[in-house]
Amino acid sequence: MTYDAIILGAGAAGLLCAASAGQRGRRVLVLDHAPEVGRKILISGGGRCNFTNLGTVPERFLSQNPHFAKSALSRYTPHDFLALVERHGIAWHEKTLGQLFCDGSARQIVAMLRDECARGGVEIRCNAEIGAIGHGDGRFRVGAASAPALVIATGGPSIPKMGATGFAYDLARRFGLKVVQPRPALVPLTLAGEDLLFRALSGVSADVVASCGKAAFREAALFTHRGLSGPAILQVSSYWQHGQAIDVDFLPDRAPGWLPAAKAAHPRATVRRLLREALPERLADVLADRLAIDGELAAQTDRTLAAAQARLSQWRFVPTGSEGYAKAEVTAGGISTAELSSRTMEARKVPGLYAIGEAVDVTGWLGGYNFQWAWASGWAAAQEI
Ligand SMILES: Cc1cc2nc3c(=O)[nH]c(=O)nc-3n(C[C@H](O)[C@H](O)[C@H](O)COP(=O)(O)OP(=O)(O)OC[C@H]3O[C@@H](n4cnc5c(N)ncnc54)[C@H](O)[C@@H]3O)c2cc1C
Repeated sequence: MTYDAIILGAGAAGLLCAASAGQRGRRVLVLDHAPEVGRKILISGGGRCNFTNLGTVPERFLSQNPHFAKSALSRYTPHDFLALVERHGIAWHEKTLGQLFCDGSARQIVAMLRDECARGGVEIRCNAEIGAIGHGDGRFRVGAASAPALVIATGGPSIPKMGATGFAYDLARRFGLKVVQPRPALVPLTLAGEDLLFRALSGVSADVVASCGKAAFREAALFTHRGLSGPAILQVSSYWQHGQAIDVDFLPDRAPGWLPAAKAAHPRATVRRLLREALPERLADVLADRLAIDGELAAQTDRTLAAAQARLSQWRFVPTGSEGYAKAEVTAGGISTAELSSRTMEARKVPGLYAIGEAVDVTGWLGGYNFQWAWASGWAAAQEI
């Protein structure tokens, strides 16, 4: 029952770390309370797993220390993971923006990681409840197993029904490590009050620029029966804090001054008609109702039209909250990077203790970045254990 490393969590980060360490000749035990490994991989990317993003750069990750992820991301790149995918003969395609998906199924990625673990002689135990963890004489003890290295790879609490827990944070705190306040990220936002009217648009989507503070994303926004979702909103949600506004530019391709210019070119047109030409009809109507500009453009002052245009390019929503961990694709915050070596992921205060993947305060944008962080941080720790 003695190992070189015990890895807690058989998700993306834990499995890649285990396989790499095992193939370096380390005796590795992986423990997970779920009945099967890699459950979030299985549901990721709509079942096709967006397993990396070729545009991976440290700027596409949120963390209290924006430099922390640089080392690991530069040493295990999207091309390294892609080479592994190709060695296993898994067909893939690039969707938009460098996002790589399996042609077939996310199951292939899980099978690949299992194979790689088997090649490294890794022992994986599912349905394993992790009880008390002992630490002394330079060894960690989990049940009857012991090792000089313990890797926290139990992820964050998003999607509890998949077995996600805040276990990583409890354990880190027990070892005296700080945790940056976790919060749901890549999550739909909820609307109420004045914005309730937009909930009637449930199912309508539009290509917009959504921004929150300095963060801005051009992608689709989707109205839901609870508020706002779609890639543009999920992206800004990671930056959003309670009380902040989200600005939406509904017509990002229109040049400044387009609405007063439209008055000159089409004086008989109405704002509603122009909006209907550019946007889904139901959305156009709600916006036109809100702008409440009746009659033809010719009857409007340039000032009125300029103000309407400004509002359309910066429509302000003040979300009341998010749909929470039940719907969040990831958890932002987590084990503080100030506690860890960026090269090895080892805790500075507790030699032999490592933290990788989503458990750490590093959160990627939507589009394969979170898996790339899981692979890269797992690989970095594997070189040391
Ligand atoms: C619906 C959905 C779709 C996603 N799609 C994508 C995508 O396409 N691309 C992308 O890059 N990212 C995607 N993500 C995010 C991605 O899944 C995570 O960032 C990634 O899985 C994190 O890897 P991890 O190994 O750190 O944690 P996880 O993969 O969550 O693994 C943690 C493991 O620890 C185990 N565990 C947790 N608590 C305990 C405990 N107390 N005891 C024992 N074991 C425990 C869990 O069972 C799990 O197996 C998606 C997430 C969701 C929810």
